[in-house]
Amino acid sequence: MDARRQDTQIAADEADAPAHTGGVAAAELQRMLARAVDQSPVSILITDTAGRVEYVNARYTEITGYAADEVLGQKAGAMRSGLTPPEVYADLWRTIRRGDDWRGELCNRRKDGRLYWDSVHIVPILDETGRVAHYLSIQEDISARKENEETIRLWATVFENSGEAVMITDPANHIVSVNQAFTHITGYAPGEVIGRNPSVLGSGRHDAAFFAEMWRRLNAYGHWQGEIWDRRKSGEVYPKWLGISAVRDPQERLTHYVAVFSDISERKAAQERIEYLARHDPLTGLPNRMTLADRLEQALAHAERTQTRIALLFLDLDRFKTINDSLGHPVGDALLQELTRRLKGAVRETDTVSRLGGDEFVILAGGLGDPEMAADIAAKILAAVHRPFLVDSHRLSTSTSIGITLYPDDGADFDTLLKKADIAMYHAKDAGRNTYRFFTEQMNAHAHERLLVQNHLRQAIERNELVLHFQPQVALDSGRIVGVEALVRWRSPELGLVPPDRFIPMAEESGAIVDVGDWVLREACRQARAWCDEGLPALPVAVNISALQLRHGDFVERVLRTLDETGHDPAMLELEFTESILIQDIARVLDQVRRLKAIGISIAIDDFGTGYSSLAYLKQLDVDRLKIDRSFIRDIGSDPDDDAIVRAVTQMARSLRLKLIAEGTETVEQTRFLLAEGCCEAQGFLYSPPLAADDFAALYRGCGGHFSRPPAAPR
Ligand code: C2E
Ligand code: MG
Ligand code: MG
Repeated sequence: MDARRQDTQIAADEADAPAHTGGVAAAELQRMLARAVDQSPVSILITDTAGRVEYVNARYTEITGYAADEVLGQKAGAMRSGLTPPEVYADLWRTIRRGDDWRGELCNRRKDGRLYWDSVHIVPILDETGRVAHYLSIQEDISARKENEETIRLWATVFENSGEAVMITDPANHIVSVNQAFTHITGYAPGEVIGRNPSVLGSGRHDAAFFAEMWRRLNAYGHWQGEIWDRRKSGEVYPKWLGISAVRDPQERLTHYVAVFSDISERKAAQERIEYLARHDPLTGLPNRMTLADRLEQALAHAERTQTRIALLFLDLDRFKTINDSLGHPVGDALLQELTRRLKGAVRETDTVSRLGGDEFVILAGGLGDPEMAADIAAKILAAVHRPFLVDSHRLSTSTSIGITLYPDDGADFDTLLKKADIAMYHAKDAGRNTYRFFTEQMNAHAHERLLVQNHLRQAIERNELVLHFQPQVALDSGRIVGVEALVRWRSPELGLVPPDRFIPMAEESGAIVDVGDWVLREACRQARAWCDEGLPALPVAVNISALQLRHGDFVERVLRTLDETGHDPAMLELEFTESILIQDIARVLDQVRRLKAIGISIAIDDFGTGYSSLAYLKQLDVDRLKIDRSFIRDIGSDPDDDAIVRAVTQMARSLRLKLIAEGTETVEQTRFLLAEGCCEAQGFLYSPPLAADDFAALYRGCGGHFSRPPAAPR
């Protein structure tokens, strides 16, 4: 039995003490001991052998919140929180019943319900016979320590399991601790780096000034963060985002540096990819418009310093849409990729080839002395594009039209130069494609006019500015007028008489063609009906229909309604389509044409020979007539190719049993050739230009519906 146990026993049991009383009287000693126990800084609890409380000291009541008389006579277990496992109590009782000390930690509950931790030491107290008479429990509230330990354990877990690497160094910058993520990212196990300087992680990419600045900030502000390139154990260099904090004790003495970092190579790669995509065309990998603008900006500064010129060449492929629509987008895409290689091959390394989208490319060439150099580049490009392309076993020929602007001649900023190059490109197209044009101020005037046309066209119908002219169609052998084609004109107060070639394409671009087309159809039917009412014989009227009208909603219903409202006979209506209707959504077009034909309307293919017609579709469409394009008729007798084409079309029409009419017939020689080949009808200035309705009626009456027959071919 140790001395302490003896003391406590004395305090608890007033009976025997003399052996230790020294000079103090027994009663005084007893009081002193009782006070010592009661005022002890640890809480003290004494129970009987059944665990019923016999004594608690002041500290005990202070910690638990129970007054002494609330616990005296109660089981000490009343303070249990229920959180300490029952085995602990079982062990406790086993131990003290044996007569041994028990030490442990118990989670108890205060009177107010709050939990707290006690470090408990229970000692059995023996009576004079050596039997256990009481248990003395000395308890210390260790909640604060427990909490600290808990916090430390928590932080250790966080440290180890953090997704971010953590490295702690001492004030001399030697590594003292690293976590798992550190090993994961750097490849170094703790044992390989602890005690070393973090410079073992360095990539050598940053110079001394970089680190000097880092240390300066770290020491001045206690913190530094930034992007840094390090090297893994494997040798791989990678970017990381690093934050370092200096840790100081309450006396402001530096104790550690804590560095936290994450590997940002993936994030950086994704970011670079996004930036790349934002600046490049995904199909060809070429710089896009935004990048081109930047490059031009740089080139402008350079050109100004060196007093040189810059050229912007605006390319638009000729008839690319046809290739795309007829052979499919994969073929179109492959062509654009091959084209990209050729364009890059045709210019200098320092020039920029960019793609704006679709079939539009822009080439930026700097350092030019005189405009002729731009012409040389354009000529090279034309040649490169004109060579046939082999895509997917298709041999494709295409060409490009190029518009050129020059700095400083045509402008000094990107938008101006690009806009003018675009305008010049349109002029190259108008000039017959496969060619280039330099921008001129006159072109600007044209472009301006285009804009005017577009603006005024919107009101043309409301303001009643559209008129129809009519051109007779004639049987070649008899000279009889067999029909009439309605051709629209626009009498604009602002622009004068505008021919359809100048506004129909724009109406198609803006979608106004749907309303214009509706108006034309109605007016043509109304006029035909009016002529009948005036006593002219019923004549078939041909009306031009844009592919866009077919694609737009309920075209067939609108035709039916117009016929119904004007009282025009569907058998006397012919709709002229160009081959372009065969390019998209064939099934829908076939269905529409079938419904139109079912009510007696005839179908003609206009400008035949200029598109990419599939004979199979022509047959499926059940077309009634082909109109040979006037470009083939024009050179009859002078261009053997055209002769051959007209001959072939005639034969084909005969074998498919299609009617045929030659557009743009201007000379007697042409009629002779046509007749000899078996083309029976013509339309053209030889007979009459398109006329106003009244003029046409007068012409018809004047000739009795017959032109004099063309002279017979010499035998
Ligand atoms: P298109 O349908 O092929 O019309 C024939 C064009 O050739 C007409 O030009 C006509 O004036 C012209 N022409 C007639 N005979 C001769 C000739 O002997 N020699 C020459 N060189 N030309 C001749 P226009 O009226 O200027 O119409 C041009 C094109 O505009 C038309 O070509 C047609 O595609 C389109 N168009 C005209 N009216 C309409 C319309 O109401 N709707 C639609 N969608 N397009 C129309
Ligand atoms: Mg026509
Ligand atoms: Mg035509």
